[in-house]
Amino acid sequence: MSSSDARLSHLMAVLQGRRFRLTPQRLAILRLVARSDGHPSIEEIYEHLREDFPTMSIATVYKTVTLLKELGEVLELSFPEEGVKRYDGAKPYPHPHLICVRCRKILDPDLGSLTPLVETAARRTGFRILSHRLDLYGLCPECQAREQGGEDAPPAHGTETDGNRLPIRLSGDCAPPHAPGDGAEPTPWRRP
Ligand code: ZN
Ligand code: MN
Repeated sequence: MSSSDARLSHLMAVLQGRRFRLTPQRLAILRLVARSDGHPSIEEIYEHLREDFPTMSIATVYKTVTLLKELGEVLELSFPEEGVKRYDGAKPYPHPHLICVRCRKILDPDLGSLTPLVETAARRTGFRILSHRLDLYGLCPECQAREQGGEDAPPAHGTETDGNRLPIRLSGDCAPPHAPGDGAEPTPWRRP
């Protein structure tokens, strides 16, 4: 059983425990949220499942994901500048993320635990740490290859990070990861 299968079984059990009926739509939502390479937004989940479930409403996606969040079973990553919230149901606890400023894909780097760092910060400051967030911004290998290939890539999204260290442009608007009508492109949170 893969870790995403294990997460899926767990999420199903949690929702069934809350007497939440597991319709095929909700099961499909859980399956997307439970994937370790996920981080989809509500809109992306909805767009992805709309073909298979034409009668499903975005409210169903919202309600299912919100319930999982209330139950502590998904991690919400809010990006206020873009007006988007993304969800990780594979790891519902705070963990570092790698974010491509070009295609907006989000990965979980295998960096080990941040717990010692958090404990040191708490010990040195007297803070009771409630949560934490570490986002590493850059260009993914695919976007670097595209850039070296000389293709016209969409402009990078501005970030607060040190532009001298990371190969990112600090100006320009962020293009959507998949433009309307560009159906051949995989959504950024799917494995190619
Ligand atoms: Zn990229
Ligand atoms: Mn994650």
